[in-house]
Amino acid sequence: LGRLYGPLTALTNVRITVMSALVSFDRVFEVLDLEPMIKEKPDAGRVPEGQVAVEFEDVAFRYPAADEVSLASLESVARLDQAPSAQVLRGVTFRAAPGEMVALVGPSGAGKTTITSLANRLYDPTEGAVRIGGVDIRDVTLESLHATVGTVTQDAHMFHTTIRGNLLYARPTATEEELVDALRDAQILDLVRTLPDGLDTVVGDRGYRLSGGEKQRLAIARLLLKAPSVVVLDEATAHLDSESEAAVQRALARALQGRTSLVIAHRLSTVRDADQILVVEDGRIVEQGRHEELLAAGGLYAELYRVQFQGQEGIPA
Ligand code: ADP
Ligand code: MG
Repeated sequence: LGRLYGPLTALTNVRITVMSALVSFDRVFEVLDLEPMIKEKPDAGRVPEGQVAVEFEDVAFRYPAADEVSLASLESVARLDQAPSAQVLRGVTFRAAPGEMVALVGPSGAGKTTITSLANRLYDPTEGAVRIGGVDIRDVTLESLHATVGTVTQDAHMFHTTIRGNLLYARPTATEEELVDALRDAQILDLVRTLPDGLDTVVGDRGYRLSGGEKQRLAIARLLLKAPSVVVLDEATAHLDSESEAAVQRALARALQGRTSLVIAHRLSTVRDADQILVVEDGRIVEQGRHEELLAAGGLYAELYRVQFQGQEGIPA
C-alpha cells in the first residue's frame, strides 16, 4: 500500500479547501489509513504577520503519478503503478516584494496554476524552495499558511448554505457589520439586499443560483473577511457581462490593496497595473518585467498581447 500513498494523498490535498468545511480531514486519512503527503514538521513555526514577500527559488516540480485518481473511485487504486508525470516546472525563480502584485501570463498548460498551487502548498516542490515572509513554507504550520494565503479561483466554491454561512466560514467571529462591510467592498451588497431573505438566502443548485460574477464577488467578500497577507487569484476567463465585470474589477482592486498578490491574469487592466509580469511558457519563466518593457522587447509577451489582450477595453494597437 505504501506505493499508493503519494498519488492518492496528492489528490486529497487538492481537495482540502473544499472538504475541510464538510468533514474533518484527519478523519478522511484515518478512514483511508493513509498519511497526508503534505506534512507539518513537529517544530513548525508561523509565517510572520503583516506584509510579506513571496519568493520562489529555483523551483522544479512534477506532479505525483496518477494523481487524477479520485477518492470516489478507490478501486482504480490498483492501477496506480504508472511512471511519474512529466516535469511541469523548472528553474522558477521570482520574488514578489511585500505589497506587490505579480501577474502570471502565458499559454494554457504553461504551469501558471501549478505555481499558485505550490504557493498554497497543495504540493511541495521537487526541487528548490517557496518562501513567504522569508520562511520556507515547509517549516510553518498548515494553519498559519492557510491564514496567510487567501485564494480566489475561477470557479469559486460556495457551500449549499446561506450567504451568511458562506461568509462566516472565512471568519466565524465576524459581526453583522463586518459581514455587511465585506459585501459592500466586494460590490455585492446591493444584490444581497434585493434577495427576499437577504444574508439568510440559501445559495446553490437548490437555492438562489448565483451567476459567475456574483459567485466571484461573494468569494471576494469571503477573502476580505479573512484578510490574508497574500492573495492568490485566478482571474475569470468566462465572459462576465460588462456590468458584472466592472464590479468584479472594483472588488478585486479592493481585495489586493496593500497585499502581496500572485494573479493569473486574463485581463489587460490587471497586467498593465502589475508591478511585475512573469511570462510562463512550458514550465519556465521566459520573460519578466513590466507591461511597457515587455511590449518593447517584442517577445512572447508582445505576441500574447497581440492575440489575447488587444481589443480589450478598446485599447488600440
Ligand atoms: P496553466 O495554468 O498555465 O494553464 P497548469 O499549471 O494548469 O497550466 O498545467 C501545467 C501542466 O501540468 C500541464 O501540462 C498540465 O497538463 C499539467 N497538470 C496540471 N495539473 C495536473 C495534475 N493534477 N496532475 C498531473 N498533471 C497536471
Ligand atoms: Mg490555469
